[in-house]
Amino acid sequence: MSSQTPKDFLKFLKNPDFIDGIYNYCDSWCERCAFTDKCMNFAMRKYKEDQNGEASIEDSLTEVFQQTTDLIKQIIEDKGMSWEDIVSQADTETPTIDPHKEADEHRNVRSAKEYTYLYGSFLKTEQGFMQGKGLEFQNDLNKGIISVEEAEEALSQIEDAFEVINWYQSLIYIKIRNACQLFFEYNLSDFMVDYYNGKAKLTLISIDRSLAAWLVLQVHFPEKVTKITEILLQLEKLRQQIEKDFPNARKFVRPGLDK
Ligand code: SF4
Repeated sequence: MSSQTPKDFLKFLKNPDFIDGIYNYCDSWCERCAFTDKCMNFAMRKYKEDQNGEASIEDSLTEVFQQTTDLIKQIIEDKGMSWEDIVSQADTETPTIDPHKEADEHRNVRSAKEYTYLYGSFLKTEQGFMQGKGLEFQNDLNKGIISVEEAEEALSQIEDAFEVINWYQSLIYIKIRNACQLFFEYNLSDFMVDYYNGKAKLTLISIDRSLAAWLVLQVHFPEKVTKITEILLQLEKLRQQIEKDFPNARKFVRPGLDK
């Protein structure tokens, strides 16, 4: 990709199959994504992997940024202007508030951090409980209390619930922080307002899915009900706060992902 010229890159970007900006509002779980053939970001990662081995989403976004910058520079030169002309026209007024600081102190960000802490502490104190569940199923199988199919189904549900919780736990913090920070940015365009609403919506969806997954664990691990309930309440609190603070988030239609 990096050996491409800006014009090659422009051609690549114009693939009519791509859904514009779909990767801005997705959960980055490409393994489970139904839109890989419509995602420019996925295509770029695939291309890079084919060329150089593994590439992370961050790598490919960095690449997009670099290629886009090159492309813009070329457009500016074609117009007979210089990069410095554009920079000098940029609004460099210092905002009165610091969006980073506001975001760090925002109640949603603090609540998301608290959830990450509860999740981590649950895993730490309950390390052996999956193994215990495996033994329990084995005993039940030996006694004929459950069938092999029932045991497999239950294990698959538990495994899936863990994967979902693991995947979304860091995403929740990252995305809501991003949305909160943008919320405090100075003089935002309509596009950026949509953008932070899209990030807030992604956070809400991540919470919805995580709550459902924790409920699956609660069914299978009734002895952990106290700890799991604490986590569920924390997530629910965060969900309610985000719904209140970003009232337009649910209404935002994520390109390709929402109908
Ligand atoms: S939209 Fe693209 S980046 Fe997002 S999960 Fe799907 S393939 Fe991956």
